This record gives sequence, C-alpha cells and structure tokens, in this order.
Amino acid sequence: MPFIEERMHPETAAGEKAPFPIGKPVSLWKQLPDGRIMCTACARYCRLKDGQTGFCGIRGVHEGKLHLYAYGRVITGHVDPIEKKPVIHYRPGSKIFSIATTGCNWMCQYCQNFDISQRRRVEGTEVEPADVVRMTQEHGCQGIAYTYNEPSIFMEFAHDIGVLARKAGLVNIFVSNGYSTPDAVAMMPDFLDCITVDFKGSGEKSFVRRYIRVPDAEPIFQTLLEMKRKTKVHIEVTDLVVPQVGDDIEAARRLSNWVMDNLGPDTVIHFLRFHPDYRMMDIPSTPVKTLEKHCSVAKEAGLRFVYIGNVPGHPLEHTYCPECGTMAVRRMGFDIVGWYLDEKNGCKSCGYQLPIVGTLEKTAGEDRFYSVLHHG
Ligand code: SF4
Repeated sequence: MPFIEERMHPETAAGEKAPFPIGKPVSLWKQLPDGRIMCTACARYCRLKDGQTGFCGIRGVHEGKLHLYAYGRVITGHVDPIEKKPVIHYRPGSKIFSIATTGCNWMCQYCQNFDISQRRRVEGTEVEPADVVRMTQEHGCQGIAYTYNEPSIFMEFAHDIGVLARKAGLVNIFVSNGYSTPDAVAMMPDFLDCITVDFKGSGEKSFVRRYIRVPDAEPIFQTLLEMKRKTKVHIEVTDLVVPQVGDDIEAARRLSNWVMDNLGPDTVIHFLRFHPDYRMMDIPSTPVKTLEKHCSVAKEAGLRFVYIGNVPGHPLEHTYCPECGTMAVRRMGFDIVGWYLDEKNGCKSCGYQLPIVGTLEKTAGEDRFYSVLHHG
C-alpha cells in the first residue's frame, strides 16, 4: 500500500458542469516548479496534477487551483458532551456541536467512523459556515468540534466556520490526529481554542505504518511543538492502546516522557481503550490492566493528570488534586457526577488551583448526546 495515493477525478470538458462537487478554491497549497500543485494542509503533502485528487479524497486540483471539494458539505452533525472528544480540562460539562466532512488523511484499520472517513465520494448536507454557527446556537451548545475525520483536510472550511463562531462567543475544538503542517497551524490562532491530539499505539513506527498507513509519527510531534510555540490553544493528548499490536509499554513511556518534556506536567493525557471495529474485528478490547500500566508509566514520567478513557466507572476517570490527592471531579463515562472545586477551580480540601479552563458549565446535567444532521 503506497503512503501517497493520487486519484483522478473525471475529466470535465470546457464549459460543462463538473460531474462532482467542486467546493471552493482554497489557500493551503504551493505551486511546484514541475507544474504540479503541492497541498500543504496535511503532512502527506500530496503533489497533484490538474484533475487529480489527494489521498484524503476531498482536495484536488481543478482548473489549475487546489479546491476543497467538501467545502460547504457536512456529512454529519451531532450534539456531544465535550468529554466525549475526549477533552476534560476545558469548559467541563459543555455541549458541543460536532461536525465532519467525508474523507481522511489516515486509513486507521480500526476506525469507528470508517463510513465517513474512508468514503471517497464527496457528500454531505450543503451548509454555509453561518448555518453551522446558527445550528450550534439553536441547540444551546457552547462550541463546535471538528471531529469524526481529520479536520486539517478541511482546514479552510473549519477556519471560516470558526471565525464566525468565535465572533458569536462560541469556542472551537479540533479532534485531530496531529498529522498536520506549519501552514495549517498558522491558521489556528484565528479561531481554534482547544485540540485533542490522538496518538495511536503510542506513535510507534511499526504500528502507524501497518495500521494507519503513514510512514511515521514525526509530523505529529512537530505539530504539537509548533502549536505550543505559536498558539495559545489548550492541548490534550490521547493515546489509543491497541492490545497485541499497539500496547508496548516502552513506547508509552517514550510518549509520556516527550509530553512531559515538551508540553509540561499539567498536560492531560488519556489512554483510551480499543474496541474491535472495521478491519480489526479479530483484536479484542484492551485489557484494563494494560491501560493501568500505561497510566503508571505516564505518572512516573511526571504527568499529573493521567486518565483512562472508554472504561466507565474506572477510578482513573476522575480528577484528583495533584497536591493532596483528594478527588476534585467525579465522572461516569462522559458525565460529571461530582464537582468538588470552588469557583476558581481550587481544591476544596487544600486550596490548590487545578489547571482547568472554565468552571462547571450549566449544561452538564442536560441531554448532551443526540443527532442533528445525518446525510446517508
Ligand atoms: S489534506 Fe488531502 S490532499 Fe492535502 S496533503 Fe493531506 S491527504 Fe493530500
């Protein structure tokens, strides 16, 4: 399987309407000396001739310009708890309007959203950026998440929505694989408030090559460094632990040490339980003990907020005060069921101020999980 795959879309004769959505000409690309265009939205850096579509299936060269074919097309829209992203140290208890386009720059063999991410037809409900903002407000959400597929691939669409959303007092959140570029990161300060960057198999080369079809995880580390240096975006890190093939404890130690050294001890890290899906139905769910061992090495590395995800009821779903060890926030799955901090997020036991952005949102007790838009 090649790491870069260029596809052709059907030729269009002059004056004919294109037999596919053409979306909009966008900005993240460079002209190459050989006449091709290099897309700079993600670290695949597809080099495309006129008529070719990039690996993600939603960007391509049409009449000499790079187009985002999925601009203005949302394949799904869902109200989610912010904790589902997972994001737990930012605006806890928020309702987040979550959207995606089709396509993706990764080919995760276990993808839970493969019907969206691996679809190579550009489809979706036609919406303008202002429509997305309006729907977010209509459903009483505090912000928008660009999720279910990799948002870098529709960066310019996310940017246009996000700028309007910020003006309207909403926040913008990326759920990203981090396989991005400095050019894409440069657009983030205009609109992005928060990101959760998903490692898989702790970013081990053998895992990402075989199960994601990318050469290595280095661009993810570079993206995180670039964001840390040049933006104020709140960053959380996740690591999907896949038993048998992506659960190496030394890899988890290396990742944890890197997060500690480069992002700091207060950076949230979530170790997520894998569930069999898509083309990896033969691998079982991650044993809880494996997740606990990963958490132990992250704590040994010095990280102070280490969580287990996808194991409702586990003690490592909760937040503990790093100073006195008292429980600060009690969770059950995506729900917050106990909040033991004062109005400034100080521990009620010792007064230590926890690094959580925002306090408990009023929406925490509402229904925060329902579908709004579905395009079959
Ligand atoms: S966003 Fe799509 S077209 Fe652009 S480099 Fe990545 S995979 Fe290629």
